[in-house]
Amino acid sequence: AVEHRPVLRIPVPARERLAIEQGGEPVVISSRGQSGLQHQQQTNELRLQNEQLTRKATTDSLTGAANRGRFNEEIKVRFEATRAGKGPWTLIFFDADHFKKFNDTYGHPVGDRVLIALAQALRSEMPKGSLVARYGGEEFAVVLPETDRVAGAQLAETTRRIIAEVEVTSDDDEELHITASIGVATDDGTCFQSPDQVVKAADQGVYAAKRAGRNCVRVFAPRMKRAG
Ligand code: GH3
Ligand code: MG
Ligand code: MG
Repeated sequence: AVEHRPVLRIPVPARERLAIEQGGEPVVISSRGQSGLQHQQQTNELRLQNEQLTRKATTDSLTGAANRGRFNEEIKVRFEATRAGKGPWTLIFFDADHFKKFNDTYGHPVGDRVLIALAQALRSEMPKGSLVARYGGEEFAVVLPETDRVAGAQLAETTRRIIAEVEVTSDDDEELHITASIGVATDDGTCFQSPDQVVKAADQGVYAAKRAGRNCVRVFAPRMKRAG
């Protein structure tokens, strides 16, 4: 026999859905049974987790500089911005000098400390809005938005000085320094067909600096078209 007891009816709150659509799959959570405050806390937590994931995906884990993927995104943005009338941008590229020898002499972990220290020094001393990236190994790049050839060359020299001033202590308490060979290329919208060509140009500067004896800056100069 079915018992007919009085039923207390409590309205079930509409199932609220929260979607955070940053970076792919929307995250859906139910707020059922939560207070407004709990809901807010969970939203904040998810936002924080999202930010942490994004940072992890765009950062080089050793040095804290931007990684290669982030660098590629950035130069694409700068390349397009210049073509949209934002003025020139500049790319500084550098490669640590005789770094294999440094590692062999002082040990790989000390070499790591140098890479960490120079990335940190550049990130704190390059202009606001610039991006310091690890291109790979002991090669780094600095992307400078809205920077012309003259300012770019000056900042490349500043970069050279900052690197030379980085100091790391060896296991025997020796004060160690390194140098880097630096190439710089400025894209004013007239001589490059792709961001990749700007990278190649800056890299040619690095090779020219190596050939010139290292610890120096070489500016890529595009060939001028002669009129007439
Ligand atoms: P050059 O002046 O011609 O650039 O000489 P180099 O010795 O720097 O150039 P090479 O390409 O022969 O060697 C690069 C060295 O960089 C070898 C490699 O062990 C070192 N290196 C690359 N990535 C790292 C890293 O993450 N940590 C450390 N400690 N060393 C690294
Ligand atoms: Mg190299
Ligand atoms: Mg090197």
